[in-house]
Amino acid sequence: MSEQLNPFKMAQKQLDEAAAFLGLDRATHELLRWPKREIHVTFPVRMDDGSVRVFHGFRVQYNDARGPAKGGIRFHPAETIDTVRALAAWMTWKTAVMDLPLGGAKGGVIVDPRELSRTELERLSRAYIRAVGEAMFGIHRDVPAPDVYTNPQVMAWMLDEYIALAGYIDFGMITGKPLPLGGSVGRIDATARGGLYTLREAAKVLGLELKGATTAIQGYGNAGSYAHKLGQELLGLKVVAVSDSKGGIYNPEGLDPDAVLKHKRETGSVVNFPGARNITNAELLTLDVDVLIPAALEGQITEANAGDIKAKVVVELANGPTTPEADRILFERGVYVIPDFLCNAGGVTVSYFEMVQNAYNYYWDAETVYRRLDRKMTQAFHTVHETAKEYNVHPRMAAYLVAVQRVAEAMRLRGWV
Ligand code: GLU
Repeated sequence: MSEQLNPFKMAQKQLDEAAAFLGLDRATHELLRWPKREIHVTFPVRMDDGSVRVFHGFRVQYNDARGPAKGGIRFHPAETIDTVRALAAWMTWKTAVMDLPLGGAKGGVIVDPRELSRTELERLSRAYIRAVGEAMFGIHRDVPAPDVYTNPQVMAWMLDEYIALAGYIDFGMITGKPLPLGGSVGRIDATARGGLYTLREAAKVLGLELKGATTAIQGYGNAGSYAHKLGQELLGLKVVAVSDSKGGIYNPEGLDPDAVLKHKRETGSVVNFPGARNITNAELLTLDVDVLIPAALEGQITEANAGDIKAKVVVELANGPTTPEADRILFERGVYVIPDFLCNAGGVTVSYFEMVQNAYNYYWDAETVYRRLDRKMTQAFHTVHETAKEYNVHPRMAAYLVAVQRVAEAMRLRGWV
């Protein structure tokens, strides 16, 4: 990975630009450039065949000035401490831009979970919690959630391990749980739903018609697969291309979300979907569509391909899909980017709702969750959009200006700077 694409360098560079714009003092700027606390762990897991494999993992608590650190845990073969640091920084800006009373964190394990059996995955999930230690977590300290290649079942195992270690039941120590274990209705598709609310608002200010708008989605996991289904249901988008880590498919007539998901469940990938043409992930990004939804990994839209993006709006459901150089190119070309830590904040927003419900042990219905999510997303979108207009900066810089000021103010009030 080139220096320029090191995600933590990228996150620091984005912050540096915002800090210069805001005229932040040195101490505040330096504190915001680095994680407050991070732990590196190495731990053994017994495989089904009796052998032992050793794994490496991380938990980074980036900033907790505004409240308990919050952020998901990823299982990915290419995980590094710098991706986790970057993602933890973005969680800090995400909770701040949404005005949630939370800080930012992220965790990761270097592993390809697709190679593990269900029982191996359970032992890995439990071992991660034991290795990091129950003292790191808790509703008043640090609250993990699902992310790339983790899901509600993984959260349930982690919760169970935590309860065994702590000796008491605290459902709010982790979010994205299954519904019978204190999960929230609406959490499962919240990232996609929240992003679509911001797209609806962006379309209003841009004067863009979304009904029938051609759409390409990169990634078919927790975010992308729901964006396909809900994008069609809520906004009438015409999704013509989708992809996963193995490649993409394209059909100008549109793709049926239920049929594509069934095909992926049966074959392990969206590739070779009947009636569609196989394309590469690179091709998907530069298709001639109205809406582009990167919903996979970081570093996808770069200096090299930003000039070829044809979409009018980029809906960043992934974390960190666009590099700072690409941001500048897209802004100059008039492509409207709904920046990641605003656009994909629906997940952590419903995670926050989940923590609230756990805290008073009383649960909301779907209608309440959707209405409150819509309000938060709509408010945050317009705050960022107005800031972008006021200072004539691209929406990501505007989101940074809003978020960084909020975190800096909390640090000042607490007497850190
Ligand atoms: N992993 C999701 C994200 O990147 C959700 C985090 C959470 O719910 O804490 O925003």
